[in-house]
Amino acid sequence: METVSQAEVKTGPLGDSPSAAQTESLIDQTTRPDCAVIALHHVSREYSGHGNVVRALADASFSIVAGEWVAITGPSGSGKSTLVNLIGCLDRPTAGELKIDNVDVASMSATELDRFRADKIGFIFQQFHLIPYLSALENVMLAQYFHSMTDENEARAALEKVGLGSRINHLPSELSGGEQQRVCIARALINDPPILLADEPTGNLDAANQKIVAELLQNLHAQGHTIVMVTHDPEMAALAQRKIALSHGKVFCHPIGGSVVTLRQR
Ligand code: ADP
Ligand code: MG
Repeated sequence: METVSQAEVKTGPLGDSPSAAQTESLIDQTTRPDCAVIALHHVSREYSGHGNVVRALADASFSIVAGEWVAITGPSGSGKSTLVNLIGCLDRPTAGELKIDNVDVASMSATELDRFRADKIGFIFQQFHLIPYLSALENVMLAQYFHSMTDENEARAALEKVGLGSRINHLPSELSGGEQQRVCIARALINDPPILLADEPTGNLDAANQKIVAELLQNLHAQGHTIVMVTHDPEMAALAQRKIALSHGKVFCHPIGGSVVTLRQR
């Protein structure tokens, strides 16, 4: 994967009005193809039906650079899932351009997009979405199967990495919520995608398991993964380097002003 060694991300409080120089540097960032791993350019997503049109995401332009950890926040209905579905290539914009790893997702056929998604993105869901009649090991191997070929040793190693080496033959119903989420993380990691997309990863967990998942995400970030995480939890959001806040489909992104974050090399 192309990586960024010395890239800088400027962060600061929301609502700051950018100076001309800051706006210039923001434009510079959003247009640097070597830097942005996720780049949105005037992206909108409208849903039509029942005689009306809902603009779930309105004219969003921002980029996320390789190795960043970004938290997406906002009230219910503000467009977070819409944005995550677009970044995860599960959906397409109705207007604007979306590039993932410098590839315009609109240029790909459905089959190419499936392959691209399996290569680039690991999904971690609040509801886990594990297959109930498959063991932890088989759930992880299923993700390998959709990507290329299965390798039981690799799947076992992924489960060991999340501390579940002794639970590989358990069904999801025989695992706690925290353990199921760790299977979900092992499944997300199995094809070594550069981007991890997490939708409320700790939304269904108690405090002890939240801590375990937070530490796993911190390790993955330190190893160079780009993490995009929807969260309502201020403690989880505080782990991210930058917040992207949504309100009524509008994006408030703050790479402007404040401290400078140096990204890690993968
Ligand atoms: P969030 O994840 O922040 O709760 P969503 O992205 O799910 O928000 O939804 C944003 C807006 O788009 C909401 O008003 C929601 O009702 C609407 N919406 C989401 N999905 C659909 C859909 N498939 N059809 C019509 N409207 C939708
Ligand atoms: Mg949602």
